[in-house]
Parts: sequence; structure tokens; C-alpha cells
Amino acid sequence: MRRGKTFIICGPSGVGKGTVVARLLASDPTLYFSVSATTRAPRPGEQDGKHYHFLTMEQFEQWIAEDQFLEHAQFVGNRYGTPQLYVDKAMEQGRDVLLDIEIQGAEQVHRKRPDAVRIYVAPPSWAELERRLIGRGTEDMERVRSRLERGKVEFAAAKDFDYFVINDTVDHAVSEIQAIMAAEHCRPDERITLIDQ
Ligand code: ADP
Ligand code: 5GP
Repeated sequence: MRRGKTFIICGPSGVGKGTVVARLLASDPTLYFSVSATTRAPRPGEQDGKHYHFLTMEQFEQWIAEDQFLEHAQFVGNRYGTPQLYVDKAMEQGRDVLLDIEIQGAEQVHRKRPDAVRIYVAPPSWAELERRLIGRGTEDMERVRSRLERGKVEFAAAKDFDYFVINDTVDHAVSEIQAIMAAEHCRPDERITLIDQ
């Protein structure tokens, strides 16, 4: 049986990562979405344990002290982290893992797990990113501005990623990511191991 791979989906807030990830999960029930922990408040419709584990600051620090995170970072006033245990379990079961995380977290995972594949998702333009972020209606204008600024600063790191996908249409972005995932399972090391087994 092949071992699962970890795919990091990174990109500016509002680009459509959550939308694209939801479509990928719907099209392949074997995919495992890593549910992050966060100290931010739930948005309408977000469920604890499904979209995030919503923690207090004290609980988040407790998880750090217990070494439960594969990575964790601060993003525009809130903290976010990837619980490690379930990522490892899913990969051992042969499931591919999707991480929807920001750039500092992606760098931490890359250092710890160099075989994790980093996919940067970019908007077709900054004006379109702003439209999407405002259109989502989940943040006030001050937070929208902070998120846009942060996205532009982080864009400098995009060239170091393994892949770069433009989310012009959701269909297009999803099919490119599916192609990347399929290609990553055609690497010689994995295929030769399968034949040896
Ligand atoms: P992120 O998870 O990256 O912060 P979301 O998935 O929440 O972004 O998407 C932000 C907004 O943009 C949502 O309202 C979503 O419906 C919309 N959106 C996502 N992808 C596209 C696209 N390709 N074209 C137009 N709107 C999109
Ligand atoms: P949001 O508040 O819009 O859900 O997420 C804000 C940012 O935090 C997004 O860029 C998202 O990818 C990132 N994020 C979500 N979960 C994690 C995580 O576990 N770790 C890190 N480093 N970033 C995360």
C-alpha cells in the first residue's frame, strides 16, 4: 500500500483556499483534511471540530506545552496550529492529507517534513482578491485591510513553493491541484517502493 502524502495549500486570505479544499474533499472521500486549532471566533456556520477546533488562548498554549502541534503561527491577531497526531495517522493509512495553512506554518512543515508538497494558490489579480474578501463578508474593513496587506507581503515567498495555481475559476484550480496530486504519486521513489513490496 502506498503511504499518503501531505499537500500544503497556502495563499492570501480570501483567495479561495477553503472553497477549493471543500471541492477536493467532496471529489475524493479518501482525502484527509487536517482540522486546525485556532483562537479566532467561529464564523456563522462554522462548526467546532469540523472547520476548526476553537480554543481559548489558554487552551492553545496548553496544546503547545503538550507538544501537540506539527506547526503553529500567529495570523492577524489570532493563533492557528496543526494538530500532529491525526496527520501522521492518516498518512500511515495511505490517505493524502490537505493542510490549509498560512506561510509561516508552511515553512515550519517544510523544515520538519521536506517531502510535504507546497502549493501556492494565487488570485488572478489583487483587485479580485479584495472583491472576494469583502464579498465574503466575514471581517470588518480594518481586518480586511490587514489580511490584504499580509497577503501582499507573503506573496514574495510564493516563488519558493513547489507549485503555483491561479484560482481564476474554482473548476480550473481544483483540476490543477488534482493533477499535481496525481503527478506527485508518480515519483520514482514511491513507485519503486511499491514494486519492491
Ligand atoms: P480563503 O479560504 O482562501 O480565505 P474562501 O474559500 O473563504 O477563501 O473564499 C473567499 C471568497 O471568495 C468566498 O466568498 C468564495 O465563495 C469566493 N471564491 C472562492 N473562489 C472563487 C473563484 N474562483 N471565483 C470567484 N469567487 C471565489
Ligand atoms: P481564517 O481565519 O480565514 O480561517 O484563516 C486565516 C489564515 O490562517 C489562512 O491563511 C489559513 O490558511 C491559516 N490557517 C488556518 N489553519 C492554520 C494552521 O493550523 N496553521 C497555520 N499556520 N495557519 C493556519
